[in-house]
Amino acid sequence: MSIQAYAVHEARQPLALWQYEPQPLGALDVEVDITHCGICHSDLHLVDGEWGGSFPKVVGHEIIGVIRAVGSAVDRARLGQRVGIGWQRSTCLDCEYCLRGEENLCHAAQATCKEHYGGFARAIRLDSRFCHPIPDALASVNAAPLLCAGITVYAPLRRYGANATTRVGVVGIGGLGHLAIQYARAMGCHVTAFTTTPAKAKEAHALGADRAVITTREGALKSVRSSIDLLIVTVAVPLDWLEYAKTLRRNGTLCFVGASPDSVSVPIGLLISNQWQLTGGSIGGRALMREMLAFSAQHGVVAQTELLPFSEVNTALERLRRNDVRYRFVLAWE
Ligand SMILES: [Zn+2]
Ligand SMILES: [Zn+2]
Repeated sequence: MSIQAYAVHEARQPLALWQYEPQPLGALDVEVDITHCGICHSDLHLVDGEWGGSFPKVVGHEIIGVIRAVGSAVDRARLGQRVGIGWQRSTCLDCEYCLRGEENLCHAAQATCKEHYGGFARAIRLDSRFCHPIPDALASVNAAPLLCAGITVYAPLRRYGANATTRVGVVGIGGLGHLAIQYARAMGCHVTAFTTTPAKAKEAHALGADRAVITTREGALKSVRSSIDLLIVTVAVPLDWLEYAKTLRRNGTLCFVGASPDSVSVPIGLLISNQWQLTGGSIGGRALMREMLAFSAQHGVVAQTELLPFSEVNTALERLRRNDVRYRFVLAWE
């Protein structure tokens, strides 16, 4: 059998329908019929050839679908189960990180759509242990982006102990940021959104932010100095990171999750006297992924999406290049 997919054959070229022969179904593998796939900025980096990998490429790693075939060692009860697949399609499951539930740190991790063909396709075959059941309360169109954008912002909130006494800041109100605000709010945190326009500030309040800072205004960052415990940066543009660090309270954490080529410089004296942590985070392990899905279902955290048919994938990618999306594109087969 062959799998139909939208593939890019050369960097920056439009995607076109294409077919590939999947690897034989391994004992622990499943075959998933894809219904929905979100579009992440990482997909653009891959399409543009910026993150390596060979062509043709089939990107897409915010996948929702239904298990249609199971390998010999997979419970047949999983047939028909609705599952989600994120950035990782397998890891070694045996290193110190995997054993701790930090599969995202495994050196043997394989990405869903870098060395393999991903979610802009009718189906995918992969390790059943990386297919996460989707709670019934979540609609596929709103759940797809949780598999990458959702876990990317949920993980640092949990890693750095966000709770009802934590003052969380979120820089950038896009695909990642609009979910970060909702999660932080649902965890009981005080939430400050950092954005560039009054319109986005209004949206941030609607998403649950207690405070919105319009950073293009003179003295905006100064006015919120020493007021944030955990600042999550979702944007991938260079900013004055020292000024952002100064919004932190003592023991505060500045965590980058947007894939930015920029670097950070903060005087060591300030790190010492304030005990600030500068850190980054990339997705999360399998246990956290399942917790994030359960938390999303319980607290009604959903991605706000624009649904398009797969046939309009090139339109969606072009609009994403211009940041013309509220807040995530999700593709579905007609
Ligand atoms: Zn992603
Ligand atoms: Zn491992």
